[in-house]
Amino acid sequence: MTRSAVPYPPAPALRASTMLLHRGRHPAAHFGMVNTPVCRGSTIVAGTLDEWESRKLPENPYASYGRFGTPTTHALEELIAQAEGGYKSVVFPSGLAACTHTMLALLKTGDHVLMPDSVYGPTRAFAENLLPRLGISASFYPPCVGAGIAQHLRPQTRVVYTESPGSGTFEVQDIPAIAAQARAVGAWVVLDNTWATPLYFKPFEHGVDISVQAATKYLVGHSDAILGLATANERSWPLLQRGAHDFGQTVGPDDVFLALRGFRTLAVRLRQHWSTGERLARMLAEHPLVDAVLHPALPDDPGHALWTRDFHGASGLFSITLKPLQRAALAAFFDALRLFGIGLSWGGFESLVVPMDMPRRLVQARPQAGHLVRIHAGLEDCEDLAADLRQALAAAQARDACAAPQSFHSSKESPCASLPCP
Ligand SMILES: *Cc1c(COP(=O)(O)O)cnc(C)c1O
Repeated sequence: MTRSAVPYPPAPALRASTMLLHRGRHPAAHFGMVNTPVCRGSTIVAGTLDEWESRKLPENPYASYGRFGTPTTHALEELIAQAEGGYKSVVFPSGLAACTHTMLALLKTGDHVLMPDSVYGPTRAFAENLLPRLGISASFYPPCVGAGIAQHLRPQTRVVYTESPGSGTFEVQDIPAIAAQARAVGAWVVLDNTWATPLYFKPFEHGVDISVQAATKYLVGHSDAILGLATANERSWPLLQRGAHDFGQTVGPDDVFLALRGFRTLAVRLRQHWSTGERLARMLAEHPLVDAVLHPALPDDPGHALWTRDFHGASGLFSITLKPLQRAALAAFFDALRLFGIGLSWGGFESLVVPMDMPRRLVQARPQAGHLVRIHAGLEDCEDLAADLRQALAAAQARDACAAPQSFHSSKESPCASLPCP
C-alpha cells in the first residue's frame, strides 16, 4: 500500500495536460480504483509497535493521524506540487486561509511584508487588520513597480507578496524582476497564482518561493467546494509545513475529492475559458457603452507585453468599466442578463458577472470612472454569451437614455421616444 510500489514515468516526460491525469493517482494502492477514494478518518491504527513507530518516523511524519493528511489529501497535494513545479504542497480549508497561513508561516513579530496595491481584498484586510496585532507591519506597492520594488524594501522586509494579474483590475506584475530584488535582500517571494493556475504561469521558474491557489476557482472548477493550496520550493517547505501543521488546518475529504475530480479536466476547461473570455473581451472593447476592458491578452492592455513574455495562456476572468450610467440603467444591464449569474467567486463552469466597487488604492489610482464589472466567461457557447451581453448592454443603453437625457447616451435620438420607461 505504499506509494513507491506504483511505478511512474519520470516527471519531465509528461506534458502538463497528461500529468494532470496521471499524477496524484495510485490505483494499485486502492484496489485498482482509477480515482483515489474519499478516505474518512481521524484515527489510523497500527497493528504492531513496529508499525506504529514507523508511522512516526520523519520520512513518514503524517501517517499517524487524520489531521496530518490522508491518501485523499496527499493525492491532491502531490498533484498540485507537480503542476506548480514546486517541491511540496499543503491543502487549506479556503483560498484565503492558504494566503494568510502562508504569510504567518514566514513572518514573525518585527517583520515587514510588502503587498501589491491590487491584492485580493480579503488578503489586504488580513494584512491591514490582523498582522499589526502580531507586531508585523504591511505596506503596499504599485503592482507594476517591477525592479523598482527595491525602493520599497526595508531591512525588516521578510515577505514580498505578489498576485498577477491583480484582483479586479488585472495589472500584470513583473514577477522575475520583483523576485530578483527580494531575493537579493533575503525576503521570501509569495505569489497568489489563482488567475493563471499552474498551467498558465510557472511560479518556480520565475523566482517564487511559495505559490498559493484558491482551488475554489479553476481547480475545483464546478462552484461546489471551497479549498486552498500552497506549494513551496524546497527551501521554504519546512516553514510552510510547520506553519500549517501548528495551526491545525485540515480539510474534509469530500472537498478534496471534488478538487481532484476538477483538476483532471483543468487543461481542457481552461482552453475554453481562455478562448471565450478573450473573444468576449474583444467584442466588449468595441462597444460604445464600454469605457475600458481590463484583460492582459488584449494587445493594448498595459500588461500585455509581460503577459506574452511570462504566461502560457489566460483564464476566463477579466473586467470592464462601463461608462457612467444612471443606477436604473446599470441595473437594467445586470437584470437583463440571462446566462450570466450575478455572484462572487469564479472558475466554475458557469458564467458570472459581479459589480465591483472601484478598488481602494493607496499608492496608485487606476484612472477609471464609471462602473467596474468583473466578468467570468464560463463554458457555455461563446456566441450565446456574446448575444446575452449585447442584449443586456442594449437594455442598459435604452434605460439610460430614458432615465436621463444628460447622461452618457446623448438625447438627440432617444430610443425611448416611443417606449414606455419601465
Ligand atoms: C477567491 C480568491 C481567493 C480566496 O479564495 P477562497 O477559497 O474564496 O477563500 C484568494 N485569492 C484570489 C486571487 C481569489 O480570487
